[in-house]
Amino acid sequence: MKLQGKTALVTGSTSGIGLAIARAFAFEGASLMINGFGDPDEIERIRQELEASSGAQALHDGADLGDADAIEAMIRRCGHELTAPDILVNNAGIQFVSPVEEFPVEKWEAILRINLTAVFHTTRLCLPAMRQRGWGRIINTASAHSLVASPNKSAYVAAKHGVAGLTKTVALEAAKDGVTVNCISPGYVWTPLVENQIPDTMKARNLTREQVMQDVLLAAQPTKRFVTVDEVASLALYLTSDGAASITGANLSMDGGWTAA
Ligand code: NAD
Repeated sequence: MKLQGKTALVTGSTSGIGLAIARAFAFEGASLMINGFGDPDEIERIRQELEASSGAQALHDGADLGDADAIEAMIRRCGHELTAPDILVNNAGIQFVSPVEEFPVEKWEAILRINLTAVFHTTRLCLPAMRQRGWGRIINTASAHSLVASPNKSAYVAAKHGVAGLTKTVALEAAKDGVTVNCISPGYVWTPLVENQIPDTMKARNLTREQVMQDVLLAAQPTKRFVTVDEVASLALYLTSDGAASITGANLSMDGGWTAA
């Protein structure tokens, strides 16, 4: 139980990668604040499962990460009902696929708000308590798209490149305070986020579902298989360990070789 006595806030953890990270942290005894949308009964089931696994408290906060006030209220609540987060995982993210000249302005703004600006807000609000304790871990789920681009993903690629830059900057600012700040950059991971973009990519590129999976998504991934959520969670867990104390400001690829090409 390596995370016993630690509190972790994992944004976007009602599904996909965030849920796998929350489960991995619970298995090591962390108190958890999970966040994200979904069916209330399913979220309650997840919350209870996390508590049973960790033997510690797990709370859910439904803050919309597009809303700075809601983010602030969630972090205040975490401090009151658990403790201020020792570990912050900025994982919530959304995607929209469209050529740039047709990209809906409100989608651009939502992607920048949720995928990038929310990371700024949670970071600025959680960092003071981490600094005060002399220990903290900030782990941002970026993407291979923080390093390279793909067509029709202008907002997502811009936001993820922004997350990579923010990660490096905060790592430098917090380097002497026992706080590490890193991002994990997965290639394609089989989650609802990927599954949901298949119909739009089929439309945008006039392809079948099978063609999108093999010729668009896995085309870039030399291993020709999707990354698993558990693989990403195991790297996040490693970054919380004492052995990872000197890893900071890193953008850690987990993309089956995609960005090596
Ligand atoms: P997912 O759709 O399974 O999960 C996204 C989570 O974010 C959910 O819990 C959802 O409720 C939450 N969320 C969405 N909008 C929110 C909002 N406004 N406020 C609060 N929560 C919100 O997606 P995933 O694939 O697990 O993605 C998680 C992260 O990993 C994202 O940042 C994504 O960009 C990144 N990522 C995913 C892949 C992939 O292939 N799946 C690859 C690289 C990076």
